[in-house]
Amino acid sequence: MSTALYPGTFDPITFGHIDIAVRASQIFSRVIAVVAQNPGKNPLFSVKERLDMVRESLKDVPRIEVISYGGLIVNCVREHKATVIIRGLRALTDFEYEFQMAYTNRKLFDAAETVFLMPSARYTYLNSTMVKQIARFGGDIGNFVPEYVREQLLGRFASDSSDSAV
Ligand code: ADP
Repeated sequence: MSTALYPGTFDPITFGHIDIAVRASQIFSRVIAVVAQNPGKNPLFSVKERLDMVRESLKDVPRIEVISYGGLIVNCVREHKATVIIRGLRALTDFEYEFQMAYTNRKLFDAAETVFLMPSARYTYLNSTMVKQIARFGGDIGNFVPEYVREQLLGRFASDSSDSAV
């Protein structure tokens, strides 16, 4: 049984993230989506809110669990006896950062193999930051995130007009 971790900030989860989760679930017998606490990224949503949105969005994906984690991802890999770290690779712009992270994780724990999956082409230029920008200014995000996430974003920007997050 091979366990793969799928870590991310998921602030918030988008159809691109979901696409990768579905692909991973078709390859590995167990996939754990890991909501990284990532305070350094100053997320718009709390860990609890992000967990809630990821759980809701992935509830129909088989063989997938959702957890949060505050430490190094390689420690999470060890704790769950996983062997694979899944990352999504969109365009060349992702490459440098992902390359660095994969090599760093390998240095920290070389039993963990990073596996990159490509989303459907229509999600290549989709990212959480863009979705937040569009939502903030009242644009239509229905093509980018599930309905539940759309409601959370609309609620956030309706009640919180401060510009602190993204
Ligand atoms: P992180 O802060 O760890 O990069 P993100 O939530 O931004 O967290 O991304 C988590 C993973 O999901 C990354 O591997 C990222 O490349 C991937 N990802 C994000 N958006 C998409 C998308 N539209 N298509 C495919 N993969 C994506």
